[in-house]
Amino acid sequence: MARVTGWIRRLLDKPGSVDLAPFQRIVAEAGELEAGLRDRTEIMPSDADRIGADRIGADRIGADRIGADRIGSAEFCAVVREAARRALGERPFDVQLAGMLAMLDGHVVQMATGEGKTLVGALTAAGFALRGRRVHVVSVNDYLARRDAEWMAPLYGALGLTVGWIAESSTPEERRAAYVSDVTYAAVSELGFDVLRDRMCTDPADLVVPAPQVAIVDEADSVLVDEARVPLVLAGSADQGVALPEMAALVRRLSRGYHYTIDEEGRNVFLTPKGTDTVEKALGVDLYADPGVVTQVNLALHAHALLTRDVDYIVRDGRVHLINASRGRVAMLQRWPDGLQAAVEAKEMLAASETGEILDSLTIQSLIRRYPEICGMTGTALAVADQLREFYDLRVAVIPPNKPCVRVDEPDRIFATAEDKEQALLEEIAERHATGRPVLVGTLDIAESERLAEALRAKGLDPVVLNAKNDAREAEVVARAGARGAITVSTQMAGRGTDIRLGGGRAEEREREVAALGGLYVIGTGRHESSRLDDQLRGRAGRQGDPGGSVFFVSGQDTLLTAYLADESLPATDADGVVRDRHAAYLISHAQRVAEGVNLEIHRNTWRYTRLLERQRGELMERRDKVLHGDTAARAMLAACPERYRELTEAVGADAVQRAARQIVLFHLDRCWTEHLGFLSDLREGIHLRALGRLNPLDEFNKESVPAYRAMLDEIERRSIETFEKADLTRDLDEQGLRRPSATWTYLVQDNPFGSEWDRILSRVAGALKRRKR
Ligand code: ADP
Ligand code: MG
Repeated sequence: MARVTGWIRRLLDKPGSVDLAPFQRIVAEAGELEAGLRDRTEIMPSDADRIGADRIGADRIGADRIGADRIGSAEFCAVVREAARRALGERPFDVQLAGMLAMLDGHVVQMATGEGKTLVGALTAAGFALRGRRVHVVSVNDYLARRDAEWMAPLYGALGLTVGWIAESSTPEERRAAYVSDVTYAAVSELGFDVLRDRMCTDPADLVVPAPQVAIVDEADSVLVDEARVPLVLAGSADQGVALPEMAALVRRLSRGYHYTIDEEGRNVFLTPKGTDTVEKALGVDLYADPGVVTQVNLALHAHALLTRDVDYIVRDGRVHLINASRGRVAMLQRWPDGLQAAVEAKEMLAASETGEILDSLTIQSLIRRYPEICGMTGTALAVADQLREFYDLRVAVIPPNKPCVRVDEPDRIFATAEDKEQALLEEIAERHATGRPVLVGTLDIAESERLAEALRAKGLDPVVLNAKNDAREAEVVARAGARGAITVSTQMAGRGTDIRLGGGRAEEREREVAALGGLYVIGTGRHESSRLDDQLRGRAGRQGDPGGSVFFVSGQDTLLTAYLADESLPATDADGVVRDRHAAYLISHAQRVAEGVNLEIHRNTWRYTRLLERQRGELMERRDKVLHGDTAARAMLAACPERYRELTEAVGADAVQRAARQIVLFHLDRCWTEHLGFLSDLREGIHLRALGRLNPLDEFNKESVPAYRAMLDEIERRSIETFEKADLTRDLDEQGLRRPSATWTYLVQDNPFGSEWDRILSRVAGALKRRKR
């Protein structure tokens, strides 16, 4: 009976989450073994038997010697706990061992901020490595990759494992060295760029990344869901982007409402008939007879009307830097699709940056899905459990906190107007601060951070602002946000990975003092588009059983409500400008659910298109690997043109012919793939026009892209044979039309909240056309 009710309770509490009972039993057993290990000076060698390894210590354990089935046992838990205690001075809590076991089983664990997920991830990585797997720990940025690798290094050392890390500045040699370690820490973008760069290698000796085996994803919701659609791009050969200064100057003169309108969600901008006339007169063209001009006008208008400096991007050192919407920080090297990037540069009157042909691209989702084994950890996983299952076949294990959370989450303070809200916010901050309690203010964008900080300074307070403009000091500032009297203003805190200790450091006396004041108080200046991001912010307070509090301020003029609540508005305010009606809270969470639904639909739609592309890419890369590592190319050429093959062999020798055949086939394979990518993106664009004629765009896309792929394979062969017949092998092949891009570079295309470029452009063209008909 007890068992049944437990089971039902679990279903009611956490739909779809993994049952922890088996893990908890193992952890309990491990607890009984602990004392026995404590006093032994040499736990490692003798206890190695227990986990099936013949030796754990100074040397790497031969992967074949390990009884992989012992990893994850109670003995294993006891040994790694003791190893962590000795190597790091931190004895893993029961909940951390349970988290490790769930991850070893291939789940995403939800553990609150400050529960020690870095250690859990390292224990898990060690487990997989001792099973003989190569492990990549996927971090959200370079700083965290390096910090975590260095922090956990003594633990790996104690277990006889090696660890390495990769940063943007790492050289190819350093990268190769890091990848041969048992465990490698790297930011997701670096992993992806290495995969893409390897894509262009023509000599196996130049390859950097080994075959993917296990990915342990930190901040899993951020990487696997929020950034899943972000394409990592490899571009090459310089091709100057179109300069759009005239367009920028033109749209600057247009006014909203009269010349153009913006849709309710702020995702699209449309020219009115009046605006169309004005633009046509100014440019002296018939706008819709010239798609190239329409595109330029629309891009300029988009940059002008929908993208806001200091909200969507900042300008620094004469360049446009995007702000990553999900983390509120400058995303290095991220850029919009070329046209939009150039339009924003023109708007800001900057020189156009270099653009290039896209040689290959890979979404973060596809990058992670290459790994046969995936697991992850984050403070907020349950809210995206459906997506994790749908896109990665992952399940969520909700690990309870080590100490119960005593943070007080106050109900939202709701106001009719933004002014009333801001006024109340300032008062609240000043009041809390007056008691000495540290206050962390989470804002929705940088402009708001700056504005708020300015207002606080005007009141004589001294806030520290943490935003994309000073992310170099990020970790340091966050770590100090728990100090007595600190006021920290920051854009979104999700995925920042730095722990906020009360007192701002390790001194216990200061920590106790701040705890006595009530701990960290978190104030959100608005609800995010997803309740998960709200939870990430709240979670900054009340870590490890600390006292703490949180509250969100909301106004009826917040974008969340204006964009996602179609007709309904908030209930009336009381005399003091505060909304107290219970229905308001319902409306706010409703708006969040609508926003989450819209984002999920965009994710699904992108995935429907990319899935096919990824399959083709995967298949082609397998062919490429065979060519790169074997004599496939030579055999194909021999079969296709035996005469020529013999002739060449006699002239320059068998080895040289084999090398040339490989070089020729790889060149055409890469070239044709680049062209195929271009074709698919044109196709997708055209398909949307057909969608207006009521055909299912996805079906149409699939119907055409599959034969196009087959035709591409034939084309690779045809071109290769043609080159092989003509080539002069005594001369450099580069000079005979096989020149590869002289330089390649990589970047991330910012996950585009406005839909893809063609979605935007086409919906606007369609909108303008519809309007014109009337
Ligand atoms: P999370 O990623 O879950 O937010 P971190 O891994 O950054 O948390 O760890 C938060 C803090 O908790 C770190 O200072 C770490 O040293 C500490 N910590 C983690 N596990 C333990 C443990 N078992 N015993 C003591 N301190 C721990
Ligand atoms: Mg962390």
